[in-house]
Amino acid sequence: MPRPRTPGQRVQFLVSARSELDIPPTLARRLLELSEAARMHSADPSWLHRSRGLWLLDELGDDALCEHARLVAADEGEQLWRELLARSKPPDDVGPALLLAVSLDARCAADEAYDVLRPVVRPGECRRWAFDLAMDLTEDGGDPRLALDALDRLGVDRDRPRYSALHCLVHCAPHGDCPSMRLAGAARARWLWGRAKRWVRLPWADMQIGAEADHLLIAEGGALADVVREFAALRGPGPMSRGLFGYLRARWARLPSAERDLLLRWIRVRWRRFTVLDATPYELVLADEAGDRAVAAAAEETPADRTWASGDIVSGWLLPTAVPAEHFFVVNNTPAAWFR
Ligand SMILES: [Zn+2]
Repeated sequence: MPRPRTPGQRVQFLVSARSELDIPPTLARRLLELSEAARMHSADPSWLHRSRGLWLLDELGDDALCEHARLVAADEGEQLWRELLARSKPPDDVGPALLLAVSLDARCAADEAYDVLRPVVRPGECRRWAFDLAMDLTEDGGDPRLALDALDRLGVDRDRPRYSALHCLVHCAPHGDCPSMRLAGAARARWLWGRAKRWVRLPWADMQIGAEADHLLIAEGGALADVVREFAALRGPGPMSRGLFGYLRARWARLPSAERDLLLRWIRVRWRRFTVLDATPYELVLADEAGDRAVAAAAEETPADRTWASGDIVSGWLLPTAVPAEHFFVVNNTPAAWFR
């Protein structure tokens, strides 16, 4: 349990908030007080008397503070956020619910995080960080129609590029006119891929699973334990597999089993070289070194035919999709995006 900071540690907090995170001094001081409140409450729950509770709820009404408080919440304060949420009334419940959801998500309880956040994200209220996390967790439920319904309920502009894959999955017919839906399995895989990449960019995304967490995962057994055992023998996977593993572990409780299975397969795919046989805007036909043909959709949104031509040699990961004849191709320079 973290103890309240010494004066020297307080100064250190303010200095690193300024130099590493570029947080203005006034905001850094409020963040420090919030973190101290989490520590005081954790040491003694009676610390949170009524006026302190009101002060904290007032603080958490500010999205500028909440943006950075997400970093604090990933490490400490779960009980404080829970208590504040219990004492709050709308619209003051959004801030504590966001921080509680972050605490839960950071310890891989994504299903609870979703349950906490869902009721406090309401139409007409613009609380960016709560909304973004609520949508991430909704999409990770793996039902595109449900996720799009949630957007509509909240009155959000579904034409934002962030939701284009989701929009196509629900409204464009498989094998119809929409080029990104011509390969339905690959379109579905692109959505999952995009969500995993968004998770990696979260400030609390845990890409480096430590030895202690490894031991715990192995002790728990199951599919994640198998991956840990396997990669230990491989002297550590690459950044992309680490990102996919981190995402799978963090959101395991939310993800449908078909998506879990797909991610488990993706983690194990090895980098290979291919010859391009044909390239259209959203599709590549590839042959591997043994001459086996595979149809793949390019991983990113860039039209494949502007990047590659027949006869080119490409290297990367040919990921399976739920449709056996379709793949999702990730070029080998993409994993740079997985470094943080
Ligand atoms: Zn479409």
